[in-house]
This record gives sequence, structure tokens and C-alpha cells, in this order.
Amino acid sequence: LSSVHEPLFAAYSTGHASELREALDDPKRFNIVQCAPVIRVSLAEEFGMPFGTLTPGKMASALRRVGFDRIYDTNFGADVTIMEEGTELISRVMSGEALPMFTSCCPAWVKHAETAAPHLLHHLSSCKSPMQMVGALAKTYGAKAEGVSPGDIFSVAVMPCTCKKFESSREEMTVDGYREVDLVITTRELAQLIKAKGIDFNSLPDEPFDSPLGLYSGAGTIFGATGGVMEAAIRTGYELVTHEALPDLQLEFIRGAEGIRTATVQLGDLELRVAIVAGLKYVHGILEQVSKGECPYHFIEVMACPEGCVSGGGQPKLLLERDRTAAYAARKASIYNHDSTLKIRKSHENPAIIQLYKDYLGEPLGEVSHHLLHTKFNSRSPKSSGMMSSP
Ligand code: SF4
Repeated sequence: LSSVHEPLFAAYSTGHASELREALDDPKRFNIVQCAPVIRVSLAEEFGMPFGTLTPGKMASALRRVGFDRIYDTNFGADVTIMEEGTELISRVMSGEALPMFTSCCPAWVKHAETAAPHLLHHLSSCKSPMQMVGALAKTYGAKAEGVSPGDIFSVAVMPCTCKKFESSREEMTVDGYREVDLVITTRELAQLIKAKGIDFNSLPDEPFDSPLGLYSGAGTIFGATGGVMEAAIRTGYELVTHEALPDLQLEFIRGAEGIRTATVQLGDLELRVAIVAGLKYVHGILEQVSKGECPYHFIEVMACPEGCVSGGGQPKLLLERDRTAAYAARKASIYNHDSTLKIRKSHENPAIIQLYKDYLGEPLGEVSHHLLHTKFNSRSPKSSGMMSSP
């Protein structure tokens, strides 16, 4: 790293700069990186571009110049999540067990559930987050495809919040003895790293992500906005249940910024009742309903941040309220715009996902999937302890 800018990055990275530098400088390491959906709609703000400027190609290009050997994508993991979580939801709705099912991709929400409602942990989807799924697949499926040893892979994730650093360090987040994600840096830390390397971000050409773990659908990219996981799940769930194409992919009734939004979706004969929660203060009423057996919903998406990951704490810092409001709106609009321009907009139609199941996983919720992509949750309540698993 350039000595002029290094202190800048080190100040932001609280000691992670040297670990990352060591990995990038070691020719024996195979360094891979993945970026959350929202990084591509906020990173450019750190380089003076307008709020919400969409730069997936420049981001991939910058990461390659920083020294990563493969540019993978958390969006690919989001598509895998939909395959696993969607199948899990349909199976629970059919059996009537452990309903409602909560999403499990936001680590701040998961930790809150483990602390405040350990008796309800079996209601969480057993899916790991998209970040951990990509980490697990990179050290197994990806390692095999690249002909490298999992032990030589250094797996980095660029995320919108520091809570993802905690998630990657959870003891369950290992695969065959290897950490799935070795290091998490935030959007701001990536910007500092790019500056430290002396890379002129604004002049970079657009470059593609690497195959297969870097290919994603529009459904994968909308995970970054509140309601995105729900919308992506309905796009696939509708077709799995009805065997018909969803007439309109823009599910406007799911989108919005209110702390709680609810809807009923007709999937053939099934009336699926869903709720979206953005901000932990809104989840308590629902947890109380579930505890009393009075919750009317089948599926509930919970994100800890008020607008989902577009407003995560590791995103570019904005001091003024009016700037935050404008930035969140622009980042969300950019995410939905990116989705609408992609050729593949449903997770189950992503050719890289189809190939993954054909060549490696077999089927959603199958034996290999369970080993790599599902987990258990820990009670963190002082009143109880132990592991709780989803059915
Ligand atoms: Fe992190 Fe917030 Fe996104 Fe949760 S909603 S994963 S805390 S940025």
C-alpha cells in the first residue's frame, strides 16, 4: 500500500489493514472478494459522484487492481439464499410447522432474536446469510473449480455494516475446518483501500465479475433494500408453486420505507401472508404475537436498519439528515433500476445457480446444502442457553 495513504486506511480498519496487506502481498494466497448488493450503489459517493451512482463495473475493476485474484459477488449468494429459503418456506407452509418463518440474513436481527426471543429461534430460517453462503461455496465448490486448496484461499467480504464482522467470526461459520469469510471490511474501508493504492476510481473501465460465483440475477441485487428479500422470494416462490410465470416482476406493494409493511400474495390456491420489518423497534409487537400464537403471517423479513442495507453503518458517512434521506432514496432507486435492466431477474433462472445445483448441491435443502448453507442459532439470553435449530 502507498505509504502516503496507508495511515488513512489503517485508521478506518482498526488493525485489519495489515492482515489484508499480508494476504494481498503473499503470492501463495488465492485472494477472493465478494461485495454486498449495496456497495455498488454507494461506493462511488466516496469518490465525489452523486448519491446512488451505480458502479458495479468500476467496483470489479478496482478490486482487481487492488490485487484480488477473483471478484465474486454476495448477490450470487442472495440467489442461492432464495433457492434454499424459498424451498424451506414452502415446506413449512405445507406442513404448518414453525410458522411464521423469519429471514435470517441480517446479523443484527439474528443476534437480537438470540438475546430477546431465544424461545422463538426455531422460527428463523436455518439459512446462513448470502455472505456466509458465498464464503462456504468459495472454499468448496469454487476451490474445486479453481484447483486450489481451501487452506490457500483468503476470503474477503465488503459489507455495509460492522455487524457482518461479528457474523463472520461466529464459531459456527466454518466449513470443513476453514473460516468461510476470513475478513470483512466496510464500504468506507474499501474506498480507503482504493485511495491507498493510488487507484483513480473515476477513470476505471467497467469490468465483469468472475464466473461462476460472481454471476447474479436482479432478484439477488434487490436484497440491499428493505423488502428486497421478500420480493425476490415471491418471484421464485410464485413460479415454484404455480408452475406459471409471474405476470409482473415489479412488486410495488412490497416496496416502501415504512417500519412495518404487510401484504397478502396469492400463490395459486395459497394465500401467503407476509410482513416486512425495517428497524428492530418494529419487531417487538410481532415477536409478542408469535409468542402468543396469534401471528397472522407466514413469512416475515426483518432488517435492523431503517431502510435495509442501503442505510447500514459502514456506508459513506452523511452528517446531515437531508443528505441521508436523499442518499437512501437514491441508493434504493439505483438498486431497483439495476434490477430492471438485468436480463435475468429471478434467482432460479440464474444459469450459474442452475449449474451449481446440477454439478454440486443436488437440490435445495439436500444433504450438501445442509452441510454448507444452513446453520443453528445460539440463545444469548442470560436466562437460558444452548443451541436452537430450525426444523
Ligand atoms: Fe447490516 Fe443493517 Fe443490512 Fe442488517 S440491515 S445486514 S445491520 S446493514
